[in-house]
Amino acid sequence: MRKPLIVGNWKMNNTLQESLSLIEGLISNRLSVDRDFVVCPPYTVLSLAGKLLKETKIQLGAQNMHFEEKGAYTGEVSALMLKELDVSYVIIGHSERRKFFGETDLQISKKIFTALNNELLPIMCVGESLAQREGDYHHRIIKKQLVEGLKLVDSSRASDVTVAYEPVWAIGTGKTATSEQANDMLGFIRTILINLYGESMAENIRILYGGSVNSSNVDELMIQPEIDGVLVGGASLKSDEFLKIMTYSDRG
Ligand code: PEP
Repeated sequence: MRKPLIVGNWKMNNTLQESLSLIEGLISNRLSVDRDFVVCPPYTVLSLAGKLLKETKIQLGAQNMHFEEKGAYTGEVSALMLKELDVSYVIIGHSERRKFFGETDLQISKKIFTALNNELLPIMCVGESLAQREGDYHHRIIKKQLVEGLKLVDSSRASDVTVAYEPVWAIGTGKTATSEQANDMLGFIRTILINLYGESMAENIRILYGGSVNSSNVDELMIQPEIDGVLVGGASLKSDEFLKIMTYSDRG
């Protein structure tokens, strides 16, 4: 049985002070032990967040890392540096990294490999653009991103990877994929994972949906059989809104 996973991606938002009040708002509440929760602040906040989240139900994630272990890569951060700050998860291949920083499937595959070697749990993002969906080749795009991005992950490590399907046209736009569109694509992703790793291993891999998730649409998404959790951007920046998402369907 896969445990639901709720992830907040703060992107390039929140100073230390803003982060402090956001995290304090999140940890002052009782959270279900049957779900996993992760927040991914910017690098500058990881140290503080690691201290505040210790002994809580919320785990710490980073938004990116370099694929090399160390070296002359000005401005970059390594997996080991993240581990030192009590980071457990790392988002890899977010569409904003692909779009604004030219990240390729090859780089993404190396990052996933290095993350796993350093005992970080990668959250691998895949997603098609609006033109690709309207051209009806979105399945081909997702398959390519998955196969190329996972090519350095063998089946013994596959269950440590989480896949997040985030259609680019739904990120930060207020347009969510319908729960059926999301469920269909996640089912398709599962069949690719089964082809890559076999049924019993692929059954352990969590697949999330991301793209304009908020407290009003999370219940409908989370009742879909293929959806194991959500990756949330904008709506994770306010503690009351993110708490409503974290407690989906528990609210009376
Ligand atoms: C994201 O950043 O991964 C994301 C899904 O953003 P938003 O929820 O704001 O669409």
